Amino acid sequence: MDTLPLKTGIIYGPVNSRRLGRSLGINLLPTDYKLCSFDCIYCHYGRTQLKTLHPEAGDFPGLEEVLRAVRDALAAHPDIDYLTFSGNGEATLHPEFPEIAARVRQIRDELRPGVKLTILSNSSTVHWPGVRAALAGFEAPIMKLDAGDPKTLAGMNRPAQGLTLEGIVAGLREVPGLIVQSVLVDGRVSNIRGAALEAWIAALAEVRPARVQIYSTDRPVPDVGVERVSPDTLRRIAGQVEAQTGLRVEAYWV
Ligand code: SF4
Repeated sequence: MDTLPLKTGIIYGPVNSRRLGRSLGINLLPTDYKLCSFDCIYCHYGRTQLKTLHPEAGDFPGLEEVLRAVRDALAAHPDIDYLTFSGNGEATLHPEFPEIAARVRQIRDELRPGVKLTILSNSSTVHWPGVRAALAGFEAPIMKLDAGDPKTLAGMNRPAQGLTLEGIVAGLREVPGLIVQSVLVDGRVSNIRGAALEAWIAALAEVRPARVQIYSTDRPVPDVGVERVSPDTLRRIAGQVEAQTGLRVEAYWV
């Protein structure tokens, strides 16, 4: 099964998307392997090579190197809407993530105050106080929540040892301006049916984000048992979540 190539540097893009307009990506992860605390069955980068919550400092770009790259990128791209922390895994695992986020925010304020800061995080570190404080500095903290029960979390996201759904849900409740992003898939593991769907809706009701974004996989996935969810089903589930929770839900598809 094909997968997408990893990002080859700190800055990538700009990328155009319906959700984030014109966005420049910041990759704080290594460039020659995927480092993540999850190993999602739908991940378009393929299997996680290093799955951990506590990586060694070794292969990450340094603070000053990241700041230099961000300054240069903002100078080279005057027309972007968002600076997005994402890349080859989970950005918050960078040992200096809180400081990097704060310093990038300063650079943004100084050079391009109209650009919004966002992050695509898998929520695995949201219960850590330093990460949560850093997330408060983002205009759009977009955090993953695909499951509302431990079995679906284990089957869908295959998390590193030590992660619990309770910790994730409790952490997400404290993130100001939270946007939850959920990938819905069917097949060998499904979050669109029965008890798994109801548990996910109940978790959303508990977290109470400012809004919820749902979509299905639209790219190559490494796992043959993963089935894409149709736009009709995404629309139906968005309506169901809105009716049951009163939350604002946006469904996206290609
Ligand atoms: S959290 Fe993101 S990068 Fe990590 S395995 Fe899941 S989809 Fe891939």
